[in-house]
Amino acid sequence: MLEVDLDLCIGCKICERVCPFGTIVVVPETKKAKVLDGCTLCGTCVNACPENALSIERKAISEEEIAQFKNVFIWGEWERKGGEIKIKNVVLELLGKGKDVANKLGESLAVILPGKDVKHLIPELFHHGADTVYLCEHELLDHYSTDGFTNVIASIISTEKPSVVLYGATPNGRDLAPRIAGRLALGLTADCTGLDINSSRQLVQTRPAFGGNIMASILSPYTRPQMSTVRPGVFPKPKPDTSKTGKTQEVEVNLKPISIRTKIIEEIPSEDEGINIEEANILVSAGRGIGSKENLEMIQEMAKVINGTVSGSRALVDLGWIPHPQQVGQSGKTVAPTLYFALGISGAIQHLVGMTSSDAVVAINKDPNATIFDVADFGIVGDIMEIIPEFIRIVKEEKEKVL
Ligand SMILES: Cc1cc2nc3c(=O)[nH]c(=O)nc-3n(C[C@H](O)[C@H](O)[C@H](O)COP(=O)(O)OP(=O)(O)OC[C@H]3O[C@@H](n4cnc5c(N)ncnc54)[C@H](O)[C@@H]3O)c2cc1C
Ligand code: SF4
Ligand code: SF4
Repeated sequence: MLEVDLDLCIGCKICERVCPFGTIVVVPETKKAKVLDGCTLCGTCVNACPENALSIERKAISEEEIAQFKNVFIWGEWERKGGEIKIKNVVLELLGKGKDVANKLGESLAVILPGKDVKHLIPELFHHGADTVYLCEHELLDHYSTDGFTNVIASIISTEKPSVVLYGATPNGRDLAPRIAGRLALGLTADCTGLDINSSRQLVQTRPAFGGNIMASILSPYTRPQMSTVRPGVFPKPKPDTSKTGKTQEVEVNLKPISIRTKIIEEIPSEDEGINIEEANILVSAGRGIGSKENLEMIQEMAKVINGTVSGSRALVDLGWIPHPQQVGQSGKTVAPTLYFALGISGAIQHLVGMTSSDAVVAINKDPNATIFDVADFGIVGDIMEIIPEFIRIVKEEKEKVL
């Protein structure tokens, strides 16, 4: 229930202006805010009130209330690539897993799609499994902002009452999901690598814990919806079915500039612009075993001859030899290439959690007991400084024969 502390309220009307549902007004006679019927408890006004005069009291959810929450929702995150708006790969991956979860619950799958000029993304969402798309277009959603996207998504969650909401564990997903969880007083499991439904119809959210040394299975028994962020590259993308369609629900967005406290002053391309290890088909990953920064040239040459992309362990990022966006692992990115070369990487658990979804792993290490060999499909015990130049020479030679 939304409470107004009349002693604190100064009648400034900010709550009235930001409420997307028109369910709070300042009474002219008393100059105090009053909550009307229809308040969805979305929390937008609580956040905006400069006097902290508003609060929402939430109680633990009962079995009867839990039964009212239905359907699996996914945040339809998009990105601008070369001036074009494209849906992020992780959304398609989540559609595959989300469908599996929705089928187990006997519920449907929906995508919340906030943005400006994003209608063209809808068919792709249907083809990958969405039954419904909530299209929320507005001028102020042209760029991601924590406030704008939180207000829109929290409102939809409050009115539609999904049982599960999934977000990609991307930089923006990691910003948005906790904000919504805070706004709606929900549980949130971050960085999941597994999702399933148990016999009590609860979402079992699996994620590495204690530095990756155990895999924890987490439930959210007291709140609905159950919310998780999921690492990109963990689940496979479903095969698109271009004949599949669905229902588009246009949502009226009532955002005001005052609701968004941040402003974009300048856009600076990120240092991984052009290098996306999450989408690479072949990764040539280097570890401390390469010995020096200069030897990275050899790794880059190897990647070039086999059309691969260079990535690395955290050791190389800590040494400043490669940028963080190229780090594989628990505190880096989760990757799932067709072929993963681990060159001079010992195989610490924090590295393994980021690459064991690869189709095939080739490890080269001079220590025959290195843990990386436990997850390798092909292992070579030896010195990378001898093996890689030879490998490059042979590939070049073979390529020339074909030409
Ligand atoms: C909270 C936390 C989060 C972390 N997150 C990550 C993460 O996201 N990603 C990550 O990678 N790590 C992460 N780490 C660090 C991780 O624990 C390891 O320290 C790191 O992965 C080690 O990197 P490495 O394998 O390159 O180096 P090392 O462990 O030093 O291994 C180097 C390997 O190279 C081999 N070698 C040496 N010379 C040669 C040669 N000439 N030829 C062949 N082999 C050779 C050695 O035998 C050795 O196995 C994290 C740690 C913590 C605590
Ligand atoms: S924003 Fe806060 S102080 Fe202002 S009218 Fe609303 S409740 Fe009162
Ligand atoms: S909680 Fe949301 S719906 Fe309720 S009055 Fe505040 S802004 Fe409006």
